[in-house]
Amino acid sequence: MGAAERREFRVEGTVQGVGFRPFVYRHATRLGLSGWVRNDTLGVLLQAEGPPDAIDQLAALLTRDPPPLAKVTRVAAHLLTPTGEKGFAIVETRAAGRPAAPVSPDMATCDDCLTELFDPNDRRFRYPFINCTNCGPRYTIVFSVPYDRPATTMTAFRMCPRCQSEYDDPADRRFHAQPNACPDCGPRLRWTDPKGQDQPGDPLERAVDALRQGRIVAIKGLGGYHLAVDATDELAVETLRRRKARDDKPFAVMVIDEDSASRLCHLDETATAALRHPGRPIVLAPRRTATELAGLVAPGLTELGLMLPYSPLHHLVLRGVGRPLVMTSGNLSDEPIAHIDTEAVDRLGPLVDGILAHDRAIHIRCDDSVIRIPTGQVLRRSRGYAPDPIALPEPARRPVLAVGAMLKNTVSVARDGIVVASHHIGDLDHLATYQSFLQAVEHLPRLYGVPFEMVAHDLHPEYLSTKFATDLDTETRAVQHHHAHVASCLVDNGRSDRVLGVAFDGLGFGADGTLWGGELLDADLSGFERVGHLRPVCMPGGAAAIKEPWRMALAWLDAAGGPDLAERIGPTLGPDWAAVARLVRTGRHVTTSVGRLFDAAAALLGVRARITYEGQAAIELEALARGGDPHSILPMAIDRSGDLPVIDPAPAIAELAVATARGDRAAAAYGFHAGLADATAELACEIAQARRLGTVSLTGGVFQNSLFANLVAARLANAGLEVMTHHRVPPNDGGISVGQAAIAARSD
Ligand code: ZN
Ligand code: ZN
Ligand code: FE
Repeated sequence: MGAAERREFRVEGTVQGVGFRPFVYRHATRLGLSGWVRNDTLGVLLQAEGPPDAIDQLAALLTRDPPPLAKVTRVAAHLLTPTGEKGFAIVETRAAGRPAAPVSPDMATCDDCLTELFDPNDRRFRYPFINCTNCGPRYTIVFSVPYDRPATTMTAFRMCPRCQSEYDDPADRRFHAQPNACPDCGPRLRWTDPKGQDQPGDPLERAVDALRQGRIVAIKGLGGYHLAVDATDELAVETLRRRKARDDKPFAVMVIDEDSASRLCHLDETATAALRHPGRPIVLAPRRTATELAGLVAPGLTELGLMLPYSPLHHLVLRGVGRPLVMTSGNLSDEPIAHIDTEAVDRLGPLVDGILAHDRAIHIRCDDSVIRIPTGQVLRRSRGYAPDPIALPEPARRPVLAVGAMLKNTVSVARDGIVVASHHIGDLDHLATYQSFLQAVEHLPRLYGVPFEMVAHDLHPEYLSTKFATDLDTETRAVQHHHAHVASCLVDNGRSDRVLGVAFDGLGFGADGTLWGGELLDADLSGFERVGHLRPVCMPGGAAAIKEPWRMALAWLDAAGGPDLAERIGPTLGPDWAAVARLVRTGRHVTTSVGRLFDAAAALLGVRARITYEGQAAIELEALARGGDPHSILPMAIDRSGDLPVIDPAPAIAELAVATARGDRAAAAYGFHAGLADATAELACEIAQARRLGTVSLTGGVFQNSLFANLVAARLANAGLEVMTHHRVPPNDGGISVGQAAIAARSD
C-alpha cells in the first residue's frame, strides 16, 4: 500500500437532490477514506484522502454506479497535498460562484415510499406528500440553485425533529431530501368548493366521494392542476367536455397499475417501459376495442393516452375511486395549465364541482409529458423529463439562449457540452403562456448558470419569441425553422455530420419568405441548402386555412385538376367553396407544407373539414388509414423540370377526390400515406446519392404520424440509407429550441 493521497473530484451532471452526497459518504466511509463532499453551484465537489487504490475505487463508482436518479456528465479530478484529516463528512452548501448545477426532473413516488404510504404502522401512512431522495418534486418547486430547501417552495415548512433527524442522517433514505415532510410538519390537503372556500371533512375522502359520484374535481399535481373525472362515466365525461369547451381532443386516463393499463390498451415492451419511466409520462398506445371507458374519452381514435399515478396523492385518489380517471390539464382549451391556487379557483372554479388542493406551492408550471407507441418517441417533453440536460454533439463555443418557435414553445440554454430544454411552455399567442415564456427565459439561464452571449430565434419575424429575442440587447442568430428541426434530430442522435434532412411539418418561415413545410435540406449544424420540396400551393385565406382543412382541399384540387376539378368537387366541401376557389387563384400565402397536404387529404376523404385542435385532421386520417388495405397506393409524381426537384401529389389528389364516392375511404387514406412515402423516399434516395449523403433524418411534426414515418423509413432502409429519427427530443416544434441552441452554440 502506497502513501496516503488526497484527490479532489468535481462531478457534473444531474447530481443534486438525487442522493449523491450520501452515496459518496457511504462508499468513502466503507473504503476507509477521510475527507468531505458537498454540493456547490457547479454540481458536487469532494475531496478524499487515503490509500490510492481506495480512492481509485471511489472514483470508479462515481461514474459507474451512481444513485438511480443521478446522471453524471463529467468527472474532473486532481491531486492535492494530504492534510491528515480524520473522518468523512458531508459539508454544507456554499452559494458562491456560478450557479450551474442542474436540478433533476420531478420523479414518481418510489417503491420504498409507496410501501410506507400504505403501511398502517408507518408514521407517514396515507400521507399524500411522502417522498425521499429517490422520488418526489424537484424542478417544479425550485426557484434557485444550489438545490437546497431554502431555494424551494418547501422553505415555507419547518421540519419537525423527526423529519430533521432523517434529513441530517447520511445513512437515511431522506438525507437532504429537500421536500422531506410528514403529517406533523409538512403540506396539508384542502378540499374547497369551486369558489375556493374550505369545506369540512377529510379532503381526500370528500374528493374521492365526489369522483365516485361522477363529479368533476380539480386536483393539484406536481406541475399544475388536473381536471379529473370518472373515465367510465359517459355523462361525467360529456359534462367535462362541455364545460372545458373541448370538442374532440382526446383526454388522457390515469390508471392504478400496469394491469389496469393493459385492460385498456395493447402494451408492448416499449409501452410498458414508458409507463414505468420515473417521469410517468402519458403513453399513447393502441387501444382495445371493448373497454369500460366512456366513448367520449378519445372519440374516433385508435389510440389512448394512459398514465400511472406519479404522486402519493394520485395513488391515494386512484385507490379510493377504484376506477380509471380522466386526467386532463386544468385549463380551458389552449390556455396553459393552472398552477397557482388563486388562479386555479378563478379559471377552474367554473368548470368543477370541487377542488383538491394543498399548500405546497408549484414554482414552475409543468404539463405532463407525452410518449407515442410504437416508436417510443417523446412528443411532449415536460414533467419528469425537463430539465435533464442533453449532450451536445460538439461543445458549445459560447453560452446560448434559444427561444424556440411560436407553437408548442420550449426554450433552451446551451453551454459547454450540454443543451437544456425547458418544460413545455405552449402556444405563445395566449397572454398567460407568453408570461410563462418570460418566466422561463429568466429562470432557465439562471438555474443553469448560462450567461448567454447570443440569443437564437426563429426566422419568422412575427413570432412573439422572435420579437422578444430581437428586442434584447444581445447578439442574435436567426435560425431557419426546418434547419432547426434537422439540427434537433442531430442532437437527439449525438451527431453533427451532414445529413439529408426531410423536414415535414405544419408551417415554418422559409429562407425565401414563403411558408415552408415540405423540405429536403442538405444540412449539418453549421448550415443548410434546400435541395427539394413539396409542390407549392396557395393557402386560401392564410391562417383560416389552418383551422379549415377543406380550404386546403380546394387549393390542391385546383393545383391538380384546375378550375374544372375544383368546380366539380368544391360543392361537396363547403358552402363558401366558390369564394375560396377565387382566393386560391390570388397566388397569396404560398406554402410547401406537408401538414397542410395531409389536411387536404383528410378533407377530401370526408374525415374532417374543420379542426378543433392542432393536427386533428392528420391524426384522424392516420387512424382511418390504419384500417385500410396495406397494398393500396396512390402514386405521386416527382417534377424535375425546375431549379429544384419537387414532389407533386397531383395524381393522388384526383384519386382522393373520387374515393369517397367509390366507398373505399380507408384504402384511399392508406394509399395516400404510401404514395407520399414512396415519392419522398425516391426523391431522398436520388438526392442522397447525388450528394454522397449516407443518412436521412426524418423530422418535423408530420413524422409524429408513425404510419407515415415507418413507411418512409422502411423504403429508405431498403435503399441502404441510414435513417435517423427522433427519440428524446420532440420531432414537432417542441424540439425547435434545442436545434436553434445547437446551431447558435457552434457559430463563431
Ligand atoms: Zn421515495
Ligand atoms: Zn415532520
Ligand atoms: Fe415545425
